[in-house]
Amino acid sequence: MLEDRRRIQTAVLGDAASEVPLLLPLEAIEVDAFRREHVGDTFWCGLLLGGCGGQLTTKLYTDRVCHFAHRPDPDGLPHVCGRRARDVSSADHLYLKAAAQAWLAGRGESARFTFTQPDGLPVGSLLDIAFDRAGRALRVHLDPAITPVWSDEAVEPVLGIRCPSTTTP
Ligand SMILES: [Zn+2]
Repeated sequence: MLEDRRRIQTAVLGDAASEVPLLLPLEAIEVDAFRREHVGDTFWCGLLLGGCGGQLTTKLYTDRVCHFAHRPDPDGLPHVCGRRARDVSSADHLYLKAAAQAWLAGRGESARFTFTQPDGLPVGSLLDIAFDRAGRALRVHLDPAITPVWSDEAVEPVLGIRCPSTTTP
């Protein structure tokens, strides 16, 4: 099955500013289950996904990959969305934050999470985690375009799966 890069596979739940990520399954049978699980829910082209904040619907196909799609504009014109990251990994930063928060809560700890955006880079490129107790911080790298800083003793870099541990010339 060929994957069209323009298809939207991730959304957020409830409203445009939501931090709750959703991943739409690719196969029709799984999308059917997804729809049953989310009866009454709304899906959005989330601002924290670099999206336009528009509402999305699910598109179920049996002959190609299922995906989210924008609702048509009220004026009938094609909806314009400048969101760049649409693939299955585009909500990784939201999943990461949710998982880290849950893990910390289970240990009776907490942290401040920031989706830091260096100049010109999309939201989700970095996730900064400042631990409330230890006074230390992690910077999770999710975009290989950002070079980690290893010399800062207060902030320890963590490399995401797509970020190489060595820089190639
Ligand atoms: Zn959008």
